[in-house]
Amino acid sequence: MNAPNKSGWKPEMTAADDGMHNGPRTVTGNRALMLEEPLIFELAGTDTTGVDLPEIELGPNRLGGMERTAAIGLPGLSEPETVRHYTRLSRQNYAIDLGLFPLGSCTMKHNPRLNEKVARMPGFADVHPLQPVSTVRGALEVINELAFWLIDLTGMHGVAMSPKAGAHGELCGILCIRAALEARGDPREVVLVPESAHGTNPATAAFAGYRVENIPANAEGRVDLEALKARLGPDVAAVMITNPNTCGLFERDMKAISDAVHAAGGFVYCDGANFNAIVGKVRPGDLGVDAMHINLHKTFSTPHGGGGPGSGPVVLSEALSPFGPLPFTARTADGVVHLVEEENAAEFDHTRAFGRMTAFHGQMGMFTRALAYILSHGADGLRQVAEDAVLNANYILRSLDDLLHAPFGEGGPCMHEALFGDRGFGEGLSTLDLAKSLIDEGYHPMTMYFPLVVHGAMLIEPTETESKAGLDQFIAALRSVAERARAGDVSMKQAPYYAPRRRLDETLAARKPVLAWSDPDSA
Ligand SMILES: *Cc1c(COP(=O)(O)O)cnc(C)c1O
Repeated sequence: MNAPNKSGWKPEMTAADDGMHNGPRTVTGNRALMLEEPLIFELAGTDTTGVDLPEIELGPNRLGGMERTAAIGLPGLSEPETVRHYTRLSRQNYAIDLGLFPLGSCTMKHNPRLNEKVARMPGFADVHPLQPVSTVRGALEVINELAFWLIDLTGMHGVAMSPKAGAHGELCGILCIRAALEARGDPREVVLVPESAHGTNPATAAFAGYRVENIPANAEGRVDLEALKARLGPDVAAVMITNPNTCGLFERDMKAISDAVHAAGGFVYCDGANFNAIVGKVRPGDLGVDAMHINLHKTFSTPHGGGGPGSGPVVLSEALSPFGPLPFTARTADGVVHLVEEENAAEFDHTRAFGRMTAFHGQMGMFTRALAYILSHGADGLRQVAEDAVLNANYILRSLDDLLHAPFGEGGPCMHEALFGDRGFGEGLSTLDLAKSLIDEGYHPMTMYFPLVVHGAMLIEPTETESKAGLDQFIAALRSVAERARAGDVSMKQAPYYAPRRRLDETLAARKPVLAWSDPDSA
């Protein structure tokens, strides 16, 4: 760390302090080319500036006495110092381009660079949502073409392209269901959500104003069909099923569930975020699904670490399609793709839209990536995506189930993710300790403590883009930490030893986040 050091910042305790490895303690806190880095406010004072601006004479203003009187308090780094600060920080990140990223339910797979090339073509990358429609014909063509393939792959009737994330798509689907129920004069109050559903499902139903009721899972980790049937009735608007579910299992009773829900006058929402496990193999439309979001950023591959970008188109059944939101694209018999908005909705026989989800048409960059992905894979390639995703997860499941407790392992193969619990760990050791030890081995941890139905859950999604050699290396690392956990190796409680930061109090950070830096000098 060679930058000016304002506040006498010192590196945290390093692994050498713990006697974990024998090297000398460095004065910089750096470990070889792994550089330490303080906060930007600790690097430089606010009394300097990295840019040379002319003094300005402040004239009268209309701020009515609200104008700032003190200095703004930004650190005065020069351009090279700023570039290095953020580059050093970026090196402390883990990314899918560095290695396997086994975060269950998140589908952290390789994103083909071809998609990026297509998304960056100026005609797509520079398109603006307020451009005249006549100048964006190519973009509309792409949206419409992607819509066609999403409908084709899912066996559904229509698709709302504009939702900007999976959870946003869920809200869109539930709003379609509400509009359809209201249109037939039958507003209902309850949405049923099984225990094996993703957490966003009950959140969406509650956000849309429904009362959420839980349906238990059976011993196999699937929806308890009899409990579901027993609860159906005239107050149930919809059932939200995640399939494959968050235990990594296919809901085999999906068709029976749909038939029962439809017989009771309700609708079936399917959380299709895990579509990469079944794409090309199963069409949700054939299973009686009425609405399902697809996470383009997961199944159809866009880099999506750190919260974005996302895109969650919702495919809709014939019963729900008339209520889908504006705007959308439609091709007329002359081959032209039109943008359907309020003013021309009647021409396209779409006057019952529930409203709109976003100001414009969705995430253009994700549409181009997803279409490039679909067209470059082809039907056989997409089917192989699902087959390889499932094969890789089962390879992990069977390579570890002698060491880690696989709660549903006896019920047969899993889908695209392998689920383990903490049973058999030594006294006082937890899933958290195992995950932190995995960081020392150079892997991002799996999804932890989710799903809730399994104690100390570890949900591992290797995805289809890992090679056997890559999986074998990961399995070796995981076996080693699993063996230590079973043997009761209490040193795991201090892990990670080799990460730039040691174990953090994540609960405290979530409950009492410190979001602003305060200068210890002025305290
Ligand atoms: C990722 C995911 C979601 C939420 O998708 P976002 O794009 O993060 O809003 C919902 N359900 C399941 C099963 C998921 O894996």
